[in-house]
Amino acid sequence: MDKSFILKGNICHTPVPGQLVIRENAFVVCEDGICRGVFDEVPERYAGLQVVDCGDRLILPGMTDLHLHAPQYAFCGTGMDDELLLWLERTAFPEEMRYADEAYAARAYGVFADRMKRGAATRAVIFATIHTKSSLILMDCMEKSGLVSYVGKVSMDRESPPELTEESAASAAAAEREFIRESLDRGYERTMPVITPRFVPSCSDALMEELGKIREEFDLPVQSHLSENPGEIDLVAELAPWSAFYGDVYDRFGLFGRQGRTVMAHCVHTGEKEAERIKECGVWIAHCPSSNMNLSSGIAPVRRYLDQGLRVGLGTDIGAGSSPSMFRAVTDAIQVSKLRWRLSGSGERPLTFAESFYLATKGGGSFFGKTGSFEEGCEFDALVLDDAVEPCARRLSVRERLERAVYLGLDERGIVMKFARGGLILEKKNR
Ligand SMILES: [Zn+2]
Repeated sequence: MDKSFILKGNICHTPVPGQLVIRENAFVVCEDGICRGVFDEVPERYAGLQVVDCGDRLILPGMTDLHLHAPQYAFCGTGMDDELLLWLERTAFPEEMRYADEAYAARAYGVFADRMKRGAATRAVIFATIHTKSSLILMDCMEKSGLVSYVGKVSMDRESPPELTEESAASAAAAEREFIRESLDRGYERTMPVITPRFVPSCSDALMEELGKIREEFDLPVQSHLSENPGEIDLVAELAPWSAFYGDVYDRFGLFGRQGRTVMAHCVHTGEKEAERIKECGVWIAHCPSSNMNLSSGIAPVRRYLDQGLRVGLGTDIGAGSSPSMFRAVTDAIQVSKLRWRLSGSGERPLTFAESFYLATKGGGSFFGKTGSFEEGCEFDALVLDDAVEPCARRLSVRERLERAVYLGLDERGIVMKFARGGLILEKKNR
């Protein structure tokens, strides 16, 4: 199947935040991997394209998992009794050390990439570990999966166990350059490097400065963590006493949006000043509700961010997040927003289904450019979903069917076809 075709079915997307658009028995046109829009009849100019009849199934935009850690999938669903800093020490770091072993990395990343392929994400922004060779193995696995992804070799040179502490800022910077050059040399079609200071506590000022230079030199995006947990925020204030607030540290070193793209995970405890800077710098926020629950981090004020016009997407944050399902992330985001609204008394209205669906599709997708909806000109990422895998006695509207499929978490079982940039990357034979 080439990258020009038409899908026919029940098309659901959110071109505008909070507005779910449903077109029943409609046609969505993909031409050379680019969406040409949704139509009730096939327009004359596309009459020559193959029509794939998806019957009564749902056709959705591919989702973007805006934040997750590939090495942590190996312990996903375990080790959930600690807060962030203790969890890193007792659960995350011991596993990440194992990626010094390339044979282990190849096995673990193979399992991870296979899971990503079966889920609803067609795009992902991923942390690896400090190990250059293993991080390149992860890139190979992601390239093969068909997803479009950014993968970062993690930079760490302080406040970490010896096995995960790079020798010096200079050697960490050299390793980062080597990782970037090698990944670019491999000529991947859909897998790109991203600069990845783990978070401020594990990166010295000297390393941050080097990473800022590398960002400029290679013009690459940046991913990291921000204002996740009170203990972490106190530690940052101690380590960078000159900073006005946590995010100010990244900004000082040229790692906070502005000329380049940056995504920061969490922003649970971001205050007014930090939120203003996020807006000024055009930084994306990756909201990770499952992780924030599991590590008792809190509930990010996403309603406030949306009202302020900040860029927000959703992340599973494997393995602090305990589900690789993006459908689950959509419902988690809604549910925690309801708790926040009820418990905080701040009057921040809960997210609606359509708003959370937008965050998972076009919201996070915008980090990659134009994708995440079926508007003309978007890169064509799509899921064909058979929600009948879970029978229902009632006759439901298409809108109800979509909401039900997401709340019941039918992504892995229900996806029968998955496309990224117009390429078919998953097809279930029994469809
Ligand atoms: Zn994370």
